[in-house]
Amino acid sequence: MLRKNLADLARSDLDGRRVLIRVDYNVPLTEDGAVSDDTRVRATLPTLRHVLECGGRPVLLSHLGRPKGQVVPSMSLAPVASVLEEELGAPVRFVPSTDTDEAVIASKNLGPGEVLLLENTRFLPGETTNEPAVAERFARLGDVFVNDAFGSTHRAHASVVGVAGFMRPAVAGFLVQRELEALSGLRLAVGRPFVVILGGAKIGDKIGLLETFLGRADSVLIGGAMANTFLSAMGASTGRSLVEQDAVPVAGRFLATGGERLVLPTDLVVADPGAPDASDAIVVPAEAVPPELAALDIGPDSRETFAAIVREAKTVFWNGPMGLFEKPGFDAGTVSVARATAECTAAGGLTVIGGGDSAAAIRQAGLSDAVSHVSTGGGASLEYLAAGSLPGIEALDPA
Ligand code: ADP
Ligand code: MG
Repeated sequence: MLRKNLADLARSDLDGRRVLIRVDYNVPLTEDGAVSDDTRVRATLPTLRHVLECGGRPVLLSHLGRPKGQVVPSMSLAPVASVLEEELGAPVRFVPSTDTDEAVIASKNLGPGEVLLLENTRFLPGETTNEPAVAERFARLGDVFVNDAFGSTHRAHASVVGVAGFMRPAVAGFLVQRELEALSGLRLAVGRPFVVILGGAKIGDKIGLLETFLGRADSVLIGGAMANTFLSAMGASTGRSLVEQDAVPVAGRFLATGGERLVLPTDLVVADPGAPDASDAIVVPAEAVPPELAALDIGPDSRETFAAIVREAKTVFWNGPMGLFEKPGFDAGTVSVARATAECTAAGGLTVIGGGDSAAAIRQAGLSDAVSHVSTGGGASLEYLAAGSLPGIEALDPA
């Protein structure tokens, strides 16, 4: 999957030209609409600085959340413009549309050193369906296309895949390039034991990829809400735990074929799902969650088991927190896996963490610098590791 990247373009390819950059500014917002974590914005700065230094005029497209093809004001990218302006130290203009004449005119009126941020691409129904007419209208916004939205690169959407079909050159940005380099290391030379840890809440998105990992990894540890779906497939009482019913049959099939490589929690921390913290939480066997309670973290025995397997690993890929780590007291499972991953790294292991929430969790544990690579994309890193390619990369110019 060798594709051109920004470094392969000459200065003259960029100088004075509008560079349409698909970024991933799917940032978390507070209730009053402020950006609560700007990691994804900062991750694009190398690409933006390079384009500006070469005299290019960056025009940025991103999605935020899942507005499902409608204008949802709380999912506007407007608050990101001022954050970007501050981080970049350059003027950032914002236009509240994407595929309009207004946006095209704004892109043509950009002055040297200025950046244009457009509105949420998912306000348009044709974005997620990769509507060619929408992709073609996006293509009017620039003269060169750069994909620097690693977290969206597994999605065949109009602003990721479709638009690249209408623009030449179309290349990878520095963030995407760096991610691919880090993840391809994990695909090619895998030191054993290779341990995959899966957790989090986006079960439907991720469970299908498990097949590849069961074939390739020595152990697959399942925690977080993902584990509840497996426990449900085993016939356990899951109480009010988050279970993805649609995924239960698939989980059942993996249980039947996974054998000893598939490791599930044996105990769980359970509490009222509405409780503000863990002060009333109790530990129960994994198969016996009381009807009125929900599993919100893996229990102490599971923590030990998971950490011991991770410490012995030579290669670790981790996507998805082990529990509701954002709430006080439900982060113990996530923290112990994070510490074990850091110990594995210190002992010479290759460790990669993928996913927005997983990245936030490792940061919360203060261990971001103690692992080999923290990827900005959860689904994208999983799919790349499983399939070896991503639709948004395939759409770019061959190297
Ligand atoms: P990532 O962003 O790393 O790919 P996901 O988006 O799949 O991860 O899932 C992260 C979310 O899963 C977090 O908000 C976390 O609180 C939630 N989560 C993890 N375990 C549980 C659980 N047992 N019950 C409810 N939510 C959980
Ligand atoms: Mg997430």
